[in-house]
Amino acid sequence: MTASETKEPVSADAIAAGGDADSALERLSVEGLKRVGPKVAERLARLNVRTIQDLLLHFPLRYQDRTRLVPIGALVVGAEALIEGEVVESTVVEGRRRSLKVWLSDGPAQGLVLRFFHFSASQAGFFRPGIRLRCYGEVRPGQGALEMIHPEYRVQTGDVSQPDACLTPVYPTTEGLSQSVWRALMDQALEQLGRSPLSDCLPRETLGGASFSDLAEALVYLHRPPVGADLDELQERRHPAFLRLAFEELVAHQVGLRRMRLAQRKVSAPILDGDGGLRQALRRSLPFALTPAQERVLGEISADLAEARPMQRLLQGDVGSGKTVVAALAALQALEAGWQVALMAPTELLSEQHHRTLAGWLEPLGIQVRWLTGRHKGQERADLLDAIASGEARLIVGTHALFQDSVRFAGLGLVIIDEQHRFGVHQRMKLREKGADADCVPHQLIMTATPIPRSLAMTFYADLDLSVIDTLPPGRTPITTVAVPEGRRDEVIERVRRACEQGRQVYWVCTLIEESEALQCQAAEESACQLAELLPDVRVGLVHGRVKPSERESVMGAFARGELGLLVATTVIEVGVDVPNASLMIIENAERLGLAQLHQLRGRVGRGSVESHCLLLYRAPLSEVARERLGLMRSTCDGFLLAERDLQMRGAGEVLGTRQTGAIQLRVADPLRDQHLVAPAQRAADLILARYPDLVSPLIDRWLGDRELYGQV
Ligand code: ADP
Ligand code: MG
Repeated sequence: MTASETKEPVSADAIAAGGDADSALERLSVEGLKRVGPKVAERLARLNVRTIQDLLLHFPLRYQDRTRLVPIGALVVGAEALIEGEVVESTVVEGRRRSLKVWLSDGPAQGLVLRFFHFSASQAGFFRPGIRLRCYGEVRPGQGALEMIHPEYRVQTGDVSQPDACLTPVYPTTEGLSQSVWRALMDQALEQLGRSPLSDCLPRETLGGASFSDLAEALVYLHRPPVGADLDELQERRHPAFLRLAFEELVAHQVGLRRMRLAQRKVSAPILDGDGGLRQALRRSLPFALTPAQERVLGEISADLAEARPMQRLLQGDVGSGKTVVAALAALQALEAGWQVALMAPTELLSEQHHRTLAGWLEPLGIQVRWLTGRHKGQERADLLDAIASGEARLIVGTHALFQDSVRFAGLGLVIIDEQHRFGVHQRMKLREKGADADCVPHQLIMTATPIPRSLAMTFYADLDLSVIDTLPPGRTPITTVAVPEGRRDEVIERVRRACEQGRQVYWVCTLIEESEALQCQAAEESACQLAELLPDVRVGLVHGRVKPSERESVMGAFARGELGLLVATTVIEVGVDVPNASLMIIENAERLGLAQLHQLRGRVGRGSVESHCLLLYRAPLSEVARERLGLMRSTCDGFLLAERDLQMRGAGEVLGTRQTGAIQLRVADPLRDQHLVAPAQRAADLILARYPDLVSPLIDRWLGDRELYGQV
């Protein structure tokens, strides 16, 4: 590349004229646009906008209607509007909050107040009586007259300028990219779209008679909705132009996931069909019988393992539904057949607990359970790695440390991943590579307590089979949940005292809004000190992320044996901890947690036969959303219902925990809102894979971006 080429990005005209017009916008960098220098380019890249196509797929969050002037007499409180009028008077109002008040009128007895709390002296002098202003802002109720607070305003001079010809889009953005920059860039992108259209990735027949079957037409409409467009339909993304794009996005996901799945089918997996001896021995030693739901999912898993195709199964079951024993029996089936098993948990604490549970069940049967985490160092680690490589270690429990390159298995037959939602799709794919060789991969069982609504499961896990444990083991009593304001902390502490007096055990969970581990640990330490002081007769234990593992294990062990009455903890206890005698849980700052997390935490109690309680301590005043969340928590223990609501309140990415990993993000489609599009999208994906293979790559490039994940077969 020559120096001049590096400085001057390829010009749009050159490409449009130079031949390969069809794919131009897909490849054309935004760096060629006016107003895009290195800084802006970098900010755009932060939002994954690199090409003109990416830009065109960056959709407005909402719209403003500046297409018509609203008479002041016709304004509606709460709506945003464009108005025009003459300044009648302006004054600075002294008082509790000093403000500049400008009276604007557009007719006899029709007035409105523009109010500014932040203003300069020159601004105060600027609003002279008689000047004409055009303003845009939200209409608020005021004293005696409607108001606009800090509206946008512009002086109208001699010739009357027309209102805008289309709705004004407001784009999601990042620091340093103003709306005017977005609009300017979009103008240029739309102009180029007019010259060289994006390639159509959907065969006509998949679109049926839908309006906006033309992609460019839909894009222009969404970025520049004409006067009279239905604002509500657009804002709620129910407009046919949005649906056209949502549909294409869902098709792209289905195509990607199906390709992944086809690729998986091409490789083989070890046939794990042992004689059932170990499984029978475990069943005989358990103090309970499996529930019908557990038996059913175990049957599904067992059949998969006996096939020469790799199992890819998601085992879904609410907290406390008994997934661990199912995993143990699946592991034994692999061990019976002479293969190794790896069980991966998302946190050390959880891996510790799995190690303990499995060792308790399996060591009496003569199976040693090994444990590997990032903490294991030096000789201990080297010995363990040797044992894994030689095949002497057969069942290994650990964290993601299990899947570092240095860990080599002699013959890994089954990988079990607990609490999948903490891991991204990336990790899931990576684990498969831990098989003995390229043509033979281990079976995979993925367990999650996050109840995934069906619409989401179909969208995101099209590459997985689904097994659901839909009933809890018998003998559980429902948990009573109440919300208590922080001001009544004393009463709460008194309840803890009474519960401990009655021989019950209690969790006290400290949470903070900042996901700073250090601060959480500090808060937990302070609470533990305070509680120990106020409850002299109660033995208090403390666990958090910074307590040494050996100490943590001994504290957890003591709590499990009933030697501690109260366990103060951070959200490290969110998953997996199992103490049936614990029947009271207090969650501090409950208003700051999402439904899924609250439900997971609450699942630590209600595991025995006594009635359990969960107290959600909150700080008033509650936001609307927090109030709704706490209300939902009080009204139901149904994890499925809570997950559906969580999805509605937060959006799909967060529910699945993909926001952090960025593995799967939908731009337009919403699996819940657009449920009716999911099945047609699956049919379209099948059609494209069967009859239009050329469309696969452009579709995946356009919508999924992450070719590493979906692109290879
Ligand atoms: P999760 O699905 O949340 O991982 P666990 O596997 O930890 O749930 O099981 C929760 C508790 O229920 C454990 O104490 C477990 O031993 C117990 N359990 C599992 N299956 C049954 C059953 N069929 N009957 C009675 N108790 C069971
Ligand atoms: Mg579990």
